[in-house]
Amino acid sequence: MIETKGYAAQDAKTALAPWSFQRREVEADDVQINILYCGVCHSDLHQIRNEWGGSLFPMVPGHEIIGRVSKIGNKVKKFKVGDLAGVGCMVDSCGECDNCHHGLEQYCTGGISFTYNGLEQDKKTRTYGGYSKLVVVKEDFALHVSEKLPLKAVAPLLCAGITTYSPLKHWKIGKGHKVGILGLGGLGHMAVKFAASFGAEVTMLSTSKSKEADAKKLGAHKFILTTNEASIKSVTGYFDFIIDTVSAPHNYNLYLSLLKTDGIQICVGAPPTPAQILGFSLLSGRKSLAGSSIGGLPETQEMLDYCAEHNITSDVEIINIKDINSAYERMLKGDVHYRFVIDMSTL
Ligand code: NAP
Ligand code: ZN
Repeated sequence: MIETKGYAAQDAKTALAPWSFQRREVEADDVQINILYCGVCHSDLHQIRNEWGGSLFPMVPGHEIIGRVSKIGNKVKKFKVGDLAGVGCMVDSCGECDNCHHGLEQYCTGGISFTYNGLEQDKKTRTYGGYSKLVVVKEDFALHVSEKLPLKAVAPLLCAGITTYSPLKHWKIGKGHKVGILGLGGLGHMAVKFAASFGAEVTMLSTSKSKEADAKKLGAHKFILTTNEASIKSVTGYFDFIIDTVSAPHNYNLYLSLLKTDGIQICVGAPPTPAQILGFSLLSGRKSLAGSSIGGLPETQEMLDYCAEHNITSDVEIINIKDINSAYERMLKGDVHYRFVIDMSTL
């Protein structure tokens, strides 16, 4: 086993604190990555507080990992020592189900090995995330990262990036579409950048008036303050698509009313409690409520390559790992501009 250290939550009630633990050895098809930066996702907070249920403790969060390969197994073909590598939300999957065969590992029916708060495919070895010095992962689950982009701003692409890129691609959202992005946080700001880059007319739907100027800088053409009745009424029946990135309970019926006939609200946000949806919100206008989870390996690589080509990165605030707990408090208040990223040299 490899001795390492990170920051962990020991249970759902206590703050993250330094923790020493062991990683598995580097096997034939594994790479060991020395972590440079790790993004802070709202999913980290949901899981350390056990808001979704079933959390495994101690938990080292972090699934927006960027680092350099420091060791390789003897069968590794895609990476050499010194290469940049990224790891997102998954470190393995069954490799045998239909979804895995189609590059949709995020929908693996055999059970995904999530980067943390999960188990390896042996179904017993715990996985630990990127708020740590190093990670060992199968080479197939490590992504190539361009040397061209600022690394700290690339880390969030591994979750916030792919989670918003994937539904935009799946529903072929682009030129001629009016798309609303609900919630301007980590996911929301990447959704704005991608949707604008794909040629859609982008409207930011936000509860924070203070984010209006930033939304426009990120590429939004319009800004609607969702807490202002007149403002939100002005976009009733307006959108072809809404990408819903909200992390907390909210009124789905209200946002469904903003869709055109046949419009689709795509949920990527994962509030901890069930939503109440009125049948009428869907049947009047033949609307759909859909969902999307991260993205598979081929699409994640495609997204990283697209970002390198089009110079797209995340807007980040770099933090010292000792400030992680106060960063979570700011995240809960919607005070993120627009992704916290931990500089792992501060560990
Ligand atoms: P975040 O940075 O905290 O952003 C969430 C944004 O939602 C906030 O900035 C705020 O934007 C808005 N918001 C918060 N509370 C709200 C409320 N009560 N009503 C309306 N709007 C509210 O979070 P994130 O990291 O982007 O993650 C967002 C959600 O996506 C989380 O639930 C996370 O677990 C989930 N997630 C899902 C996937 C997936 O695969 N589908 C992947 C990653 C994350 P405004 O200030 O603009 O209103
Ligand atoms: Zn995430």
